[in-house]
Amino acid sequence: MPQLTVVVPAYNESAVLRSFHERLRKVLDGLPLACDVLYVDDGSHDDTWSIIESLVAADPRTGALKLSRNFGKEAALTAGLDAVLADAAVVIDADLQDPPELIPALVEQWQAGYDVVYATRSAREGESGFKRLTAAAFYRSMERLSDTMIPRDTGDFRLLSRRALDALRQLRERQRFMKGLFSWIGYRQTAVHYQREPRQAGTTKWNYWRLGQLAIEGITSFSTAPLRLATWVGLAAAGVSFAYGAFVLVKALLYGDPVRGYPTLILVVLFLGGVQLLALGVIGEYLGRNYAESKQRPLYFIEERRTPRAPR
Ligand code: UDP
Ligand code: MG
Repeated sequence: MPQLTVVVPAYNESAVLRSFHERLRKVLDGLPLACDVLYVDDGSHDDTWSIIESLVAADPRTGALKLSRNFGKEAALTAGLDAVLADAAVVIDADLQDPPELIPALVEQWQAGYDVVYATRSAREGESGFKRLTAAAFYRSMERLSDTMIPRDTGDFRLLSRRALDALRQLRERQRFMKGLFSWIGYRQTAVHYQREPRQAGTTKWNYWRLGQLAIEGITSFSTAPLRLATWVGLAAAGVSFAYGAFVLVKALLYGDPVRGYPTLILVVLFLGGVQLLALGVIGEYLGRNYAESKQRPLYFIEERRTPRAPR
C-alpha cells in the first residue's frame, strides 16, 4: 500500500489542534493509503506540544517534531518535509483553513501521475477587501518580475510526490519562500480548486508587516528585477541630469549667471538623493540575502522527536 504523510506545522495552535486532528483522521481513514500525520511544533508558547504529545500517545500513526524555538512557518515546513519517508506528503495548516476533506482530491491527481498537486482557493472569505487587494497586487507583480510562475491564490496546502520531495530537499537556501520553491522544482504540477473557509479559532500569525516581509522575500528570492530597475532609474536620472547640466552650463557661458535657481538646486539634490537611497536600499536587500546565505546556518534545530508507533 502506498504511504502518505501529512505534515502539519503548528505554532500556538492549542485551540484548534484536537478538532483538527479529529477531522483529518476521519478523512485519512477513508483513503486507500497508509497515512500518518507529522506535527511540527514550531516553538509554541502555549500547550501545543503537550496536546501533540497526547495525540501521539492516542494515535499510533501520529509522529511529531518539536523545533528548538520559533523558526517560522517556512522552516517548520522544511523540517517536516525533510523527515518524510513516505511516497508522498501533504502540507496542511493546523487552523482548519485548508479543508482536510480536499486531501482525497489531491491524492487522486497524484495517482493520476502528478508530482505537485496544489490547492487553489476560489473564494477568500473572512478576509478584508484590503487583504484581497494586496494579495492580488503581490501575485501580479510576482508574475511580471520573476520567471518562476507562482500559482495565484494558492497557499502551502498541497501534495508532493516522492521525487518532488527529493528535489525540494536539495534546495537549502536559508531565506525560504516555499510557494516559490514548490513551483521552481518543476515536474508535473496541477491545481485542485476549493472554497477557503475563515479561520476556525485562534488568530492568524500574519499581520501586514509580516506579509510585506514575505512579499519582499518572494520577489527578491525569485527575481533580480528590482536591481535591474534600479539601474534603469539610475540611468534615466543620470541622463536627465547631464542634459540639464549641459543646458545650465551653456546658458551660464552665453548669458552669465546672476545667483538664482535655489528651487531647482533643492529639487535636483532631493531627487537624486532619493533615487540613490532607493537604489542603495535595493542593493542592500540583495546583499542582506547574500549575507544570510553565506553564514550557511542550519535551517532549524529539532529538540524532540516522536515517531509513529504503527508498523508501516
Ligand atoms: N505557523 C508556524 N510557525 C509560525 C507561524 C505559523 O508553524 O511562525 C503555522 C500555523 O500554526 C499554521 C500555519 O503555519 O498551521 C499557517 O499559519 P497562519 O494561519 O497564522 O497563517 P495564514 O493562514 O494566515 O496564512
Ligand atoms: Mg491560517
